Amino acid sequence: MFPAPFEYLAVRSVEEAIDALARHGYDAKVIAGGQSLLPMMKLRVAAPSVLVDLNRVEGLSGWQEDAQGLRIGATTRHAALERARPLAERYPLILATAPWIADPLVRNRGTMAGSLAHADPAADWGAAFLALRGQVEVQGPQGTRSIGADDFFVDIFTTSLAADEIITAVRLPRPVGHPEATYLKLERKVGDFAVVGVALNLEVDPEGRVAQAGIGLAAVGPKPLRAPQAEAALIGQRLSFNLAREVAALAAEAADPTSDQRGSAAFKRDMVRVFVQRGLESLRQRIEGRQPASA
Ligand SMILES: Cc1cc2nc3c(=O)[nH]c(=O)nc-3n(C[C@H](O)[C@H](O)[C@H](O)COP(=O)(O)OP(=O)(O)OC[C@H]3O[C@@H](n4cnc5c(N)ncnc54)[C@H](O)[C@@H]3O)c2cc1C
Repeated sequence: MFPAPFEYLAVRSVEEAIDALARHGYDAKVIAGGQSLLPMMKLRVAAPSVLVDLNRVEGLSGWQEDAQGLRIGATTRHAALERARPLAERYPLILATAPWIADPLVRNRGTMAGSLAHADPAADWGAAFLALRGQVEVQGPQGTRSIGADDFFVDIFTTSLAADEIITAVRLPRPVGHPEATYLKLERKVGDFAVVGVALNLEVDPEGRVAQAGIGLAAVGPKPLRAPQAEAALIGQRLSFNLAREVAALAAEAADPTSDQRGSAAFKRDMVRVFVQRGLESLRQRIEGRQPASA
């Protein structure tokens, strides 16, 4: 299928992009990697009359670290994050999540910001973004603002971004403790969207106690979800088998899945429990491997 005809604008600055969005309103869409928008246009689910291409805007691609944390520019590809070895020590969840997204072709074009803006409840970055307590930097006709992860996703394919606003970057706070992370994903076949995805990010103090915990869930609700009660149960604790079991049950309660061709709601909820327990167990082994024997 071919998309409906559209005008194509290859803008050179964020201001030019915002101006185009303001002029064309809901008829215009920005395009980053095109890996969600183009399939929707080909299926005629979306038919914007103007496409505003962000890829020639200088300064939107790449990532930088500073004292506050990590800033990932809006046109940074999934593949660039998958290969970002220097991030392994402070942002291991990024490296754990990126390889699970689609296939190398999609990862070479698609972007984290595009994935968040698209707000597919089954997307992998949504769960990781929540677990990491990220923020998006947004620019629009009224200026710039940031939106925290908990306020960003509103409903299925819906965010709190206005139609004339653009995500310029994703920000992740610098960890307060030593980070350990994992991403677990059940998929029907390699490269598919998640049946269930679980992002776990723990920040551990020098005594091996959890100082900060993030549990993000993909594909088990109308939007990516966080599991706040499960996270709270981890704070100040050393991981143990029993604690992992208790936290996993709380995380499963936070899920809000529906039955579909990928599985029943009960199965998906139980997979959240299994993945959280399994993920915490693997993190416990890593944390204990780093602790001196006497700790
Ligand atoms: C075959 C296939 C398999 C896939 N499998 C997975 C998977 O397993 N897991 C997964 O998470 N994803 C998967 N995806 C989706 C993929 O990750 C997309 O790359 C991603 O969802 C969208 O990023 P993009 O840069 O391509 O955005 P685009 O397609 O360019 O845009 C998507 C939407 O976001 C908006 N947008 C883009 N950038 C911005 C911005 N900076 N500011 C404001 N709005 C913006 C666009 O207007 C559009 O509405 C798959 C895609 C395909 C084609």
